[in-house]
Amino acid sequence: MSTFRSINPYNQETIAEYAPHTEADIEQRLAWGHQAYRHLSHTSLQERCNWMLTLAGLLKTNVEKHAALITREMGKTLREAKAEVLKCATSAEYYVGHIAEMLQPKLIHSDAQQSYISYDPKGIILAIMPWNFPYWQVFRFAIPNLLAGNTALLKHASNVSGCALAMEDLFLQAGFPEGAFQALLINSKNIEPVIADPRVQGVTLTGSTAAGMSVGALAGKYIKKSVLELGGSDPFIVLKDANLDEAAKTAVKARMQNAGQSCIAAKRWIVEEAVLGDFTDKVSNILGNMRQGDPFSEETDMGPMARPDLAAELAQQLKQTVSQGASLALGGQHQEANFVPTLLTGVQPGMTAFEEETFGPLAVIIKAANEDHAIQLANQTPFGLGSSLWTTDLDKARRLARQIDSGNVFINAMVRSDARLPFGGVKQSGYGRELALEGTHEFLNVKTVYIA
Ligand code: NDP
Repeated sequence: MSTFRSINPYNQETIAEYAPHTEADIEQRLAWGHQAYRHLSHTSLQERCNWMLTLAGLLKTNVEKHAALITREMGKTLREAKAEVLKCATSAEYYVGHIAEMLQPKLIHSDAQQSYISYDPKGIILAIMPWNFPYWQVFRFAIPNLLAGNTALLKHASNVSGCALAMEDLFLQAGFPEGAFQALLINSKNIEPVIADPRVQGVTLTGSTAAGMSVGALAGKYIKKSVLELGGSDPFIVLKDANLDEAAKTAVKARMQNAGQSCIAAKRWIVEEAVLGDFTDKVSNILGNMRQGDPFSEETDMGPMARPDLAAELAQQLKQTVSQGASLALGGQHQEANFVPTLLTGVQPGMTAFEEETFGPLAVIIKAANEDHAIQLANQTPFGLGSSLWTTDLDKARRLARQIDSGNVFINAMVRSDARLPFGGVKQSGYGRELALEGTHEFLNVKTVYIA
């Protein structure tokens, strides 16, 4: 079996190699995960909250160390990596403050003497996670699940094995029992027996639509609950009455942060014709001043993409879109994984950058004749994860928000995930929710108790 190699995407140097887990290792980890689930059922919520607070403290104290690991393995700037680690810590603290309320049994009046819903853990949940937010994607699933008494097996993306093992270590250091959170270093080809295992009670995946189709099919085959958080092609809609300075600044951030590699990045800027020229000038100005380079440098706004193959794929999408009639207004070059911020104007339905998810620093401007046309263009995609709508008329914003087919609509703000708000998509962006009450209940046994 070949090893997992972590490669620094900025300079292509090998950082470390990890031997994959053998079949015997996988069996051992399933056994530990199941034992830990049994163990957790004898712990109090207070005890689990104490461990989670210790974990939040460890993340804060060691933020530099964890952030550097993220930056080395997948290339985001150190500044972004620190913010990601701290978001995990503050979200853990948030859940500690709210989990009792989320797990509180719900009384229901029926013909029983008493009837209620009890929210009980189920066992091991398998998490298949991507490299783009290698800590946050994992923690946003793991925090509520471990607090509720489930245990976690993490099959992380194969380019971030160091992050996976560092997180395993963190849960142990925080006091969680051995087996409560474990990394599985396995190839995605070998995932079927893990999903099939009766000790595994559910699977959550964040990643591409192709991976979602495969994992969703396996979850169906073995009757396992699944949550899929897949790709997106989020519209960022700028209407003519928007605050254009704010919209332009936020559009660039929402597209370019994490080198454009976010499921909720603003992948299609849809701009009402009346303000198209002004908006284009403003974003071009900001994009033209962005510095792409060494992710460890304070001077750098944007690091490399996570892998050269991802940059090559983006370059191909860019080339196709230009050949279909779009204009290259800025950027366009890449070397290995280093891709400069790029802007395409004159993008229309039917062109590659409109029809497909583009996972990198490529901004595209699409002209809308009017408000109705803007909404029509926004919905003209197989995806439905997030959307951002810019207008100063909030009544109009609320009305239009209902017409957008997506799991989130952010008005005069960029889409982001937040422990307090449910997060997830519709259409090919997946199903189920993460975070908040809705996400916390996804992998719990919503158990009806009836007392005659
Ligand atoms: P993938 O979707 O292939 O990888 C995400 C995770 O899923 C990884 O852990 C990967 O493991 C695993 N995986 C992939 N295929 C399967 C499968 N058939 N069964 C089980 N697990 C699987 O993303 P890529 O890294 O290849 O990126 C490709 C594209 O995916 C991006 O360009 C972007 O469009 C999209 N993407 C979306 C993300 C999001 O946040 N929604 C995050 C990352 C990517 P392994 O690494 O071992 O293959």
